[in-house]
Amino acid sequence: MVDYHVHPNFSEDAQGSISDFCGRAVELELEEVCFTTHYEPDPVRREHEHVRVGGRELGMDSDWPRAYFAEIEGARQEFSGLVIRAGVEVGYEMGLEVIVRDFL
Ligand SMILES: [Zn+2]
Repeated sequence: MVDYHVHPNFSEDAQGSISDFCGRAVELELEEVCFTTHYEPDPVRREHEHVRVGGRELGMDSDWPRAYFAEIEGARQEFSGLVIRAGVEVGYEMGLEVIVRDFL
């Protein structure tokens, strides 16, 4: 069993750290998880969309991916028996293709 749609507490609407979710995944005997924190690149909503890093709210265009992927890498070290994939859930709107492409 896998879960490829996990929002850790980097998303404003989520609670629980990446490590917390991995621990629970191991308890549930999942084989893989994929973290999909929200990425909302629409400049029109920039003032309303944030990412949480260490409890602080940062803008979407900040350096948050560095902390996000580092935390996922740390979980890979901590939970070596669990396949941990890294992703984002993109809040896509037409016209944002270049922004999304550059981010990915
Ligand atoms: Zn989602």
